Amino acid sequence: MAGTKTLTIIKPDAVRYEHIGPILTMINSSGFHIAALKLIRLSRSEAEHFYVVHKNKPFFNSLIDFMTSGPVVIGILEKENAVADYRKLMGNTDPLKAEEGTIRKKFAANIERNAVHGSDSDENAEKECNFFFSCIERFSVFDK
Ligand code: GDP
Repeated sequence: MAGTKTLTIIKPDAVRYEHIGPILTMINSSGFHIAALKLIRLSRSEAEHFYVVHKNKPFFNSLIDFMTSGPVVIGILEKENAVADYRKLMGNTDPLKAEEGTIRKKFAANIERNAVHGSDSDENAEKECNFFFSCIERFSVFDK
């Protein structure tokens, strides 16, 4: 059975252009419960740890520069089938390929500055949520 949570990051570009509110509205309107939320600035080592799978990609340093360039909003989103449903709401990594009505189509500037992150599997969602939030910062509607 698919999991019920995913981790999102509203990235520095979207925070800088005051898109936090509109993005959270799209998230709520699509049926997600916000189980945790905070505004923080990632350190270089936190960003490098988070994106370690991309360590050997040519865009890695640029991605880390971008992700540490300003504050980000980190959240845990809950609903049935959360990972796949949120990836659908985000749209393609490249906003030029993203469908109408998706967050990236609406708010992303380019393939790197693409407004939001969403976990890509239930296993990674679990790891990412635990990386950013302690148990007293989370308010699940599923885990009672
Ligand atoms: P996601 O799961 O859709 O976020 O995509 P990936 O896991 O493949 O990539 C992680 C992040 O790296 C993306 O959200 C972008 O911010 C960035 N990224 C991915 N591909 C590229 C690329 O080809 N060039 C650049 N500059 N950044 C990229």
